[in-house]
Amino acid sequence: MKCPYCDSKRTRVIATDHDARGVRRRRECRACGQRFTTLERAILTTPLVVKRDGRREEFDRDKLLSGLRISCARRPVSADDLERLVDLVEARIRQEGKAEVDSRLIGDLVIAELRELDPVSYIRYAIVYLGLEDLEAVRKEINRLLSE
Ligand SMILES: [Zn+2]
Repeated sequence: MKCPYCDSKRTRVIATDHDARGVRRRRECRACGQRFTTLERAILTTPLVVKRDGRREEFDRDKLLSGLRISCARRPVSADDLERLVDLVEARIRQEGKAEVDSRLIGDLVIAELRELDPVSYIRYAIVYLGLEDLEAVRKEINRLLSE
């Protein structure tokens, strides 16, 4: 951390404090002796989603949820399970700490979680979102699941 007074890089932390807004560090410059405080906080903005065709759009949890509800219709997956899944996806893409994430990352996260939750819902989801367009691709995916 550079000193804001003299630009020296020779600064040291003299105290660290945690509060609701993040981590505050009291620092002292070894060059000029000035003291200053830095605040370190997580960036919690949700990144933009880059779609396959290159368009960007806001992460839309309602859209993701409604897609999941369709995939999980009449399956033993509760509304709570789906909310948790979407929460997890949202938290994970925020953790990336980037301004943009590839839509495939979201697809991969959903697929991985849905496979654990309910294989039938997973296959339904995969058919639509992985673009398993023919029966052969679907059969391959089902065989892969059955062999695990
Ligand atoms: Zn200084």
